[in-house]
Amino acid sequence: EDVLLSVRELATHFTADEGVIRAVDGVSFDVKPGTIVGLVGETGCGKSVVARSILRIVEKPGSIVGGDILLRRGDDWLNLAELPPYGPDLRKVRGGEIGLVFQDPMASFSPVHTIGSQLVEAVRLHERLDRRAADRRVAELLDLVGVPNPERVMSAYAWQISGGQRQRVMIAMALAGRPKLLIADEPTTALDVITQGKVLNLIRDLQERTGLAILLITHDLGVVAQMAEEVIVMYLGRVVEKGPVDQIFHAPQHPYTRSLLNLIPSTEAVARQSLKAIRGTVPHPLNRPDGCGFHPRCDVAIEGRCDKDAPALQIVGNDHTIECHLGEAERAKPCEDAGRRL
Ligand code: SF4
Ligand code: MG
Repeated sequence: EDVLLSVRELATHFTADEGVIRAVDGVSFDVKPGTIVGLVGETGCGKSVVARSILRIVEKPGSIVGGDILLRRGDDWLNLAELPPYGPDLRKVRGGEIGLVFQDPMASFSPVHTIGSQLVEAVRLHERLDRRAADRRVAELLDLVGVPNPERVMSAYAWQISGGQRQRVMIAMALAGRPKLLIADEPTTALDVITQGKVLNLIRDLQERTGLAILLITHDLGVVAQMAEEVIVMYLGRVVEKGPVDQIFHAPQHPYTRSLLNLIPSTEAVARQSLKAIRGTVPHPLNRPDGCGFHPRCDVAIEGRCDKDAPALQIVGNDHTIECHLGEAERAKPCEDAGRRL
C-alpha cells in the first residue's frame, strides 16, 4: 500500500521532577500521499506532541523514547526518529519534505523583517535561486495561497496584516520547500469563523491542486468532518479510534469518540445515560488512570476490567480500529444523527 509517512509505536515522554509524563505513549498511524488525515482529541491529549515529534522539535525535558517515524523517499524509508537532531538530513526534512503550520503565525514571524524578506529566505533555504528568481517564487507562493495584494504584503511587517492574511502567508512559508506533507496544528483556531472557513477552503484547495498530504490537527470534529478522509482520535497519549471519516462520523465505536460527537448511543446499556457532555476533564498526565485511560469519564466502563486492564486494539471495520474492552454487542449501534449534528 502506498504510504508517505508511517508512525509506529511512537513514544514521547517528558521527565518532570514529579515523574514521567507519557504525552505520546505508543501511537501508530499512516498518512497516504495526497490525503488529508485528521488528528483529533481534547487539549492535552498529545496531538501537538505527535506533530513536534515528527518534526523532531520536541522541547526539553521531552524526548522521543521509542518507536519509528518513517518517511518515504522513493523506495527507501528515512527514520526521522533516529536522525541526529541538528543534522543536515533533518534540516532538509523540516520545512522541506514536511511543512508545518500552526495556530499562532505571529510567533513564527520576525517582527523586524518584512514578510517578503522572510519568504525569500525560506525559499532560498531549500532552493538555490538568485534574488529575482526568489522574488518570482515568492510571488507565486503568495498567489497560490490567495493573498490578494502580494506586493503590499511583501513589503509589510507581520503585525501590519490581518490574522487571516498572516495565516495564508504562513501556509505560503510552509510550502516554500515544496513539501509532500503539510502538518497543520490547529491552523484556524485563532481565527474568526468566516476567516476560518476561508483558510480551510484554501488548505483543501491546495491539497487538490498540489497533491499534498496533510496531517490536520484540531480539537474541532466539525473541521475534520469537512476536510479529512481519515480520522485518528487521541486520548491521553493513545490512539483510541482510527478509521475512514464516514465510519468515524456515522458509526463511531469508541465511547470517547461518541462523547466527542455528542451522540446518544442507542444500546440498552447506555441509553439510560446522556452522553451530551463529556463528564470530567482530561486527567493530569502525571495521574494517569490505571487500565483504560478514559475509564473515569466513561459512562459504559466495565467495573473490575476497564479500571484494571489496558484495552487491546480491536479491528471493528475496514481500516477501522479501536482500543476498548467493549465487544461488538456492547457497543452502541451507528447513530444516523451524527452527520446532521455537525
Ligand atoms: Fe470505556 Fe472501558 Fe472502553 Fe475504556 S475500555 S472506553 S473505560 S468501555
Ligand atoms: Mg495542541
